[in-house]
Amino acid sequence: MSYLNIDPKIRKFVNETEKELVDIYSDLDKLAENNQLRVLDAMQNVQLSERHFLPSTGYGYNDQGREAIENIFAEILRGESALVRPHISSGTHAIACALYGNLRPGDEILAITGSPYDTVRTFIDSKSEEGNGTLEDLGVEYKEIPLKNNHIDINRVLDTISDKTKMIYLQRSTGYNWREAIPLEEIKKTVNKIKELYPDKIIFLDNCYGEFLSEIEPLELGVDLIAGSLIKNAGGGIAPTGGYVAGKKELVHNAGCRLAAPGVAVETGSTMNWPKQVLQGLFFAPTVTVSAIKNAILASAVYKKLGFEVRPEPDELRNDIIQSIKLGDPEAIKIFCQAVQEAAPIDSYVTPEPWDMPGYSDPIIMAAGAFIQGSSIELSADAPIKEPYIVYYQGGLTYPHGKIGVMLTLQRLLDNNFLKLEELK
Ligand SMILES: *Cc1c(COP(=O)(O)O)cnc(C)c1O
Repeated sequence: MSYLNIDPKIRKFVNETEKELVDIYSDLDKLAENNQLRVLDAMQNVQLSERHFLPSTGYGYNDQGREAIENIFAEILRGESALVRPHISSGTHAIACALYGNLRPGDEILAITGSPYDTVRTFIDSKSEEGNGTLEDLGVEYKEIPLKNNHIDINRVLDTISDKTKMIYLQRSTGYNWREAIPLEEIKKTVNKIKELYPDKIIFLDNCYGEFLSEIEPLELGVDLIAGSLIKNAGGGIAPTGGYVAGKKELVHNAGCRLAAPGVAVETGSTMNWPKQVLQGLFFAPTVTVSAIKNAILASAVYKKLGFEVRPEPDELRNDIIQSIKLGDPEAIKIFCQAVQEAAPIDSYVTPEPWDMPGYSDPIIMAAGAFIQGSSIELSADAPIKEPYIVYYQGGLTYPHGKIGVMLTLQRLLDNNFLKLEELK
């Protein structure tokens, strides 16, 4: 990789655009600083030391690293407790533990931010997995209320909640939808209204991509239970695997009963050599997340200037790290993703192609030349091959790497006549 591969006009265009973003970037540096303090505090409060890095084996009773990690996550996420495990294999699995652990036959789960993320829908009610133990197979009913003009339709939510409703489901990030992430302010208002009338309903929030985006975390706003992945923001690009569930103690415990078994719940689970990497990743997570946000904003600003529709806009408040860019052409989204792969430290020589990923309904092309397989806090891009041909761009462990990625996408679109040099001003 050399700047020689990138047209000087592209470099100039991106550098000029970057200059317009200094005020936004400066606010984000402040956010990283405050969240760094929060992480540092939590680590000091458990008196973290080298003994927490010693590997455990077998059943993993009294695994000191695991216990320290769970206390630290609980404090950072403002939960009564947290379940943070290498045995949680993905964000989807973390969410599944939270839902299966807390829902029973005859209960209803009500999704109020539209349809949940594809892989979550698959275990809730998808016909494709019928008979394999989806929530619906087990007698849990599912209802969904779409967003109205991109906002939670609170009146309809309040009208729909009934005695059967056990859990209200929110998703903060966009997933593969052309919409803004839900702002924390809106989550707060919604939670307050629901709790006022229905204090006993469990409010669950899918927090994937949400960590360290703000100085406030959803559990502080009255949400009861959250779940997320360690190969996104909270792992800082270093955690090799894992996920978490956090919130009210009893609800987290129930999720643990599902992860392991009722009775042994959360007391077992050897973590081998995992704790040190998770803790180190968590330590980096506030700055890594801010690098990813800055990179998303740079991409947003650059592509907006070129006349593409972008979500969010460069100066809009961010509630996840995803930048959606409507390229409007199936070939263009492929070229974009291939350019992101080409800019990667790992597997830069391979060319990604669309494929039918398990759990997704359309073929997806994914660029993820990452140290941690599939990690989307690392520079990555993905796009379902469907109209209106939107690419979802995210991550960047360091800001300079993200910037190189943006420049290379422009170069390859230029090489393939989706852009013209005259447009770069
Ligand atoms: C990534 C993601 C998930 C699922 O996480 P995986 O680790 O891919 O299983 C769920 N919800 C949202 C909003 C996500 O971004």
